[in-house]
Parts: sequence; C-alpha cells; structure tokens
Amino acid sequence: MTNPVFIPGPTNIPERIRKACDMPTLDHRSTAFKEILPPALAGVKRILKTETGEAVIFPGSGTGGWEAAISNCLSPGDKVLASDFGMFSRKWIDMCNRHGLDLQVVTAPWGQGLPVDDFATILAADTTHEIKAVLATHNETATGVRSDIAALRAAMDAAGHPALLLVDGVSSIASMDFRMDEWGVDVAVTGSQKGFMLPAGLAIVGISQKAISAMETAKLPRFYFDFRDMLAMNPSAGYPYTPSVGLLNGLKTAIDMLEAEGLENVFARHAYIAEGVRAAVRAWHLPICAASPDLYSDTVTAIVVPNGIDGNALVAHAETRYDTSFGAGLGDVAGKVFRIGHLGVLTEVQALAGIATAEMAMADMGIGVTPGAGTAAAQTYFCKNG
Ligand SMILES: *Cc1c(COP(=O)(O)O)cnc(C)c1O
Repeated sequence: MTNPVFIPGPTNIPERIRKACDMPTLDHRSTAFKEILPPALAGVKRILKTETGEAVIFPGSGTGGWEAAISNCLSPGDKVLASDFGMFSRKWIDMCNRHGLDLQVVTAPWGQGLPVDDFATILAADTTHEIKAVLATHNETATGVRSDIAALRAAMDAAGHPALLLVDGVSSIASMDFRMDEWGVDVAVTGSQKGFMLPAGLAIVGISQKAISAMETAKLPRFYFDFRDMLAMNPSAGYPYTPSVGLLNGLKTAIDMLEAEGLENVFARHAYIAEGVRAAVRAWHLPICAASPDLYSDTVTAIVVPNGIDGNALVAHAETRYDTSFGAGLGDVAGKVFRIGHLGVLTEVQALAGIATAEMAMADMGIGVTPGAGTAAAQTYFCKNG
C-alpha cells in the first residue's frame, strides 16, 4: 500500500485530510460541532455553485445520495426519464425500478454520452408532463464519458418541461466544472471519496428550491435520508442522528484545500493531467472508450484493450505484481477495458508513475505496447504545457 491508487474512487487521501478525519470523540450536540457542520455545508454549496439551493450531508456514499434524491422528490408510480449508457446510470435505473417508479429508459451505446437529442424529443412530446424527473449521470465512471448537462437543461427549457433534473455528479463534482444553479440542477449527488479526497462515508447532496417544494408532496417512504429532518435541524448545526464527525471535519479541510488552490485551478489541473494520460494512451495505439474528444472525462479514462486480452486480468496482474490498482471494466465493458482514474490529489509525478506501471503490466500481459512510449508522450505533453 505504498503506491498511490489509479482508480476512479476512492481516491488518494492527502495527509492533511487524513489527520483532519482522525479526531477524538466530539459531542455533536456541543458547540464545537458548530465549527464543523456549518462551514462544511457552506463550502459544499460553493463547490456545487449554488446560491439558491441547500446542501445536506448524510452518512452514506454516492448511492445513498441517489436514494435520497429519488425518495425525497418522487412518489410511487411517477414517470422518470433515464438513459442506460454505462454501469452507474444503469444502477440508478435499477434503484428506481426497485422503488416502484415508472421508468422510460433510452439505451445508448456505452462510450457515448447522455442522449440529449432523444431526451429532447421525448420531453417535447410529453405535453401532459407525465415525466416527473429526468436522471442524468454527469460523468459515467464506467466508460470515462462526460455528458453535457447544460445542453440537457437547454432541451428541458426548450420543451417547457417542468420535470425535476436529478444529476449524479459523484465522479465529477469537485474535479470537473459543475454549475448547479446555472444548469438548473434540482438534486446534485456526490460522495466523499472521489473529488473530495476523503474516505468513503458521506453522501453529499445539493437540493434546489424546486426540489424542496417537491419534497413536501413526494410519497416515497424515507426516514434516514429525509431531506426535511436535515433541513429543519442543520441551520442550528443540529443533526437528526449521529453524524460522522471526523469525516465532516475532513470535508471542511478538503474544501479549504480545494479553495486554496482555487476551484477553477483544480478543474484545470484535472484537465491537464487527463490530457497527459490520454497522450500516453494515444502513444500506445489503444482506443479510448469515450467515442469522441468532446466526451472525454477529466477524472477517468477507460482504455480499450486488444482483442484476446482480458482487461480485468491486466488489472489483477498490476495489483499482484506491482501493488498498483487500476480500474477494472464494469458491466458491458468488463474485460474489454481497463481504467486509469486521475482525480483527486494526483500530480504529474504520480500520473507518470501510473502510466509507466500500466506499461509494464501491459508488456507482461503480451499487449504490444513499447514500455516508455506512453510515459514519453505524457512527459512531452507535461513539459510543453505545464
Ligand atoms: C462511484 C460512483 C457512484 C457510486 O458511489 P458510491 O459512493 O460507491 O456509492 C455512483 N455514480 C458514479 C458516477 C460514480 O462514479
């Protein structure tokens, strides 16, 4: 465990954040907790770029945030528009089905983005506004695809459609530009262990005023994830049950670090590291799973392995031989891709180590890449563009 991980979450934890999470027991009803929760909530709102919305933080993970989003905004039988274009969008659909929602699913090829044009057609045709919510996965971590949430918002507005817009930003928020207010996002979901560089354990959720109105009439059952209890108690630094105090303190520190670097600088650094990784992949002559450059994610790259090679065996080999974790292929692309996660604290130096290690693992597995070719391409990119 001396090497950094190159998985798209959980990400490497900076020493300062580890120390901030490591706290003696603190009574969450004491005044000391007032130094932790309110700044964490205010910081989350700044990272989400919302001034009109609210933030809540549940013990949980991104998946818990999904459940909070749907159970607070929807009622059994409500119609929901979603797309299956990767493992995470597919799992969210599965969750909606298990909650008794009426799903309309547009299937898109994995490697493509959210099918905004199809959504636009469907929304425009839904003149009686049966669709109550539109689900969107901003960054599909399984394929390394970033979708255009601004374009989706524009399509919803063009159709004059009042559906709620629920966005999974688990692998984008705090690493890639996310504009909750500007994009009219009604619920934004993330977890602590990706862009926020924390251990897993928090579901971080942004809620618009429109979602707050919807929550009053939504009939899906919820208790632990009820927005109402959080929103009633948070203003006085209260919490409806025992909070993860250490993680919340870590979150406050993570926000300090992100803002000290400057949020736009954090996004630029992610884009820069991602481009270095992609330069390496091009030098390997291996395809990127994301179908076109406009879809490239700045937090994870899924790399298509040659026919006859098992991408998951490659990942297992890197782990056993080099003690280095890369992301395995998931769902429909299991075995066909391996993923390099490049989000969180990753630097050029660490990215180069990951690229060089991937080259050794690929050479060991008989993939015809020349060791050093990708590393050199990334070095050249970093030297020219740093
Ligand atoms: C990691 C991830 C999730 C799942 O989050 P957990 O924190 O593991 O529950 C959901 N969506 C996306 C896009 C992710 O990357």
